[in-house]
Amino acid sequence: MLTTQEQLKYSRQIMLNKIGQQGQMALRNAKVLIVGVGGLGNPASLYLAAAGVGTLYLADGDTIELSNLPRQIQFSEQDLNKNKADTAAEKLNQQFPDCHIEAIDEMLDQELCDYYLPQVDLVLDCSDNIATRYLINQACVTHKVPLVVGAATGFDGQQMVIDPRDDSSACYHCLFPSSEKAPANNCQTIGILGPVLAIVAGMQTLQAIKLLTGNKAQINKLNLFDGLSNQWQHFTMKKQKTCTVCGEKK
Ligand SMILES: [Zn+2]
Repeated sequence: MLTTQEQLKYSRQIMLNKIGQQGQMALRNAKVLIVGVGGLGNPASLYLAAAGVGTLYLADGDTIELSNLPRQIQFSEQDLNKNKADTAAEKLNQQFPDCHIEAIDEMLDQELCDYYLPQVDLVLDCSDNIATRYLINQACVTHKVPLVVGAATGFDGQQMVIDPRDDSSACYHCLFPSSEKAPANNCQTIGILGPVLAIVAGMQTLQAIKLLTGNKAQINKLNLFDGLSNQWQHFTMKKQKTCTVCGEKK
């Protein structure tokens, strides 16, 4: 049961009939791993902690640089050179004392994936490189954990839901079987604007909350956002039987 304090605090969410008491309790019991605590992971972790998600694991091996600050809004100049996961966990702990937050202050590898994935209900891919995306996708398929992928460069954003609990769900590898076809994801060379990340992270956290509260989140859809025309485009993704990660011949 929710406490009186929780009833009050989350009353505007509880009054949504798609969430209600049950949904709010599901959020409180949920454990979410956020991979990458940069431009996407910053707003995503804030929104999930604020919505009442009970446990967040934040994974990032990077340190905070001056050029991160225009979009990684939890960090300030006092935080330069500190680890991103540790710093975000410290700040979120202060702001949301009811949320249990654990920092993983290193780059995710196979071993960490195999340790954390069986413990979590959902993963948010907020990473910025293709090797990590492939690793998380593979781990989520192996452990049958839903994955919400987000990416952004320049004015463009991308978001998709992969739910390996559903046999018909395509995975990231179905869409991008080789890294040459995957979107170049380098903010250092292409540039990026904070609000584009906020829009993609907002979409990711909305999908995450729907999945955690037993609502439908759309699988097999690649959602692309163009920040210059302010338009979303939605493409249908298909599970590939030949996919080496989720297909029949894996
Ligand atoms: Zn696949």
